[in-house]
Amino acid sequence: MKILFSDKFYESDYADNGASAPGRLEAIMDAIGHDSSFSIISPRSADEEEVLLAHTPQYVDAIKSNHKLYDMATLAAGAAIMAADIGITGEPAFACLRPPGHHAYRESSWGYCVFSNMGIALLRLKQQYRIKSAAILDFDAHTGDGTKEVLADWKECHILNPYADNSEAYIKVIQDFTKEIPSVDIVGVCAGFDSYKKDVGRKLATDDFYLIGDIMKRFAKRAANNRRFAILEGGYYQPDLGRNVLAFCHGFM
Ligand SMILES: [Zn+2]
Repeated sequence: MKILFSDKFYESDYADNGASAPGRLEAIMDAIGHDSSFSIISPRSADEEEVLLAHTPQYVDAIKSNHKLYDMATLAAGAAIMAADIGITGEPAFACLRPPGHHAYRESSWGYCVFSNMGIALLRLKQQYRIKSAAILDFDAHTGDGTKEVLADWKECHILNPYADNSEAYIKVIQDFTKEIPSVDIVGVCAGFDSYKKDVGRKLATDDFYLIGDIMKRFAKRAANNRRFAILEGGYYQPDLGRNVLAFCHGFM
């Protein structure tokens, strides 16, 4: 499985928030980097035209005035683009990036997010006539409100943010969602690990992340010609973040 990652994502001074916290990406890459199932690929940055697929020129200009933030956010969007480009060939890919993107709207953002990484990656494939439909699972503890807004006009894009009181019910909501979709051109996952039982979401165990990855792999196999990719969103409990990402990736590959 391909992992999109740049050492630049280790830099934590592009912002001062939970997603930019020092040690966060190290926690993930320490787990992934020692596993021979993965090969690491360096991402390119998204260009402005690609970012404008999901955002207004005013918003992009506002981010651009902060060079450090813009460089990091365009690299994150580029990693998502490349993960989607690999995913569409039928080989799974995971973009280990920051800043995350699921709270990024067309013209604003909150919650540590800057650009809609998932929105940009999918709208680019759609603009290039490589896909007409998509299914997105966002298992972050927080709703991917930005992704929903950015992709709101796209009728053939199915988005699930699961809600449930416990992990069993949560997994069932995901299974039911996949069963309802007979076929789709690509499967995207907004992988937020703050839904972990020791993180803010207080719900999922490490094994549940494996299970979710496995469900989405089987779904992609049945309904999307194996086409699937995932990108990192939240996840702040560093002691277990690496093993949780690893569990998801093992299920997903
Ligand atoms: Zn979150």
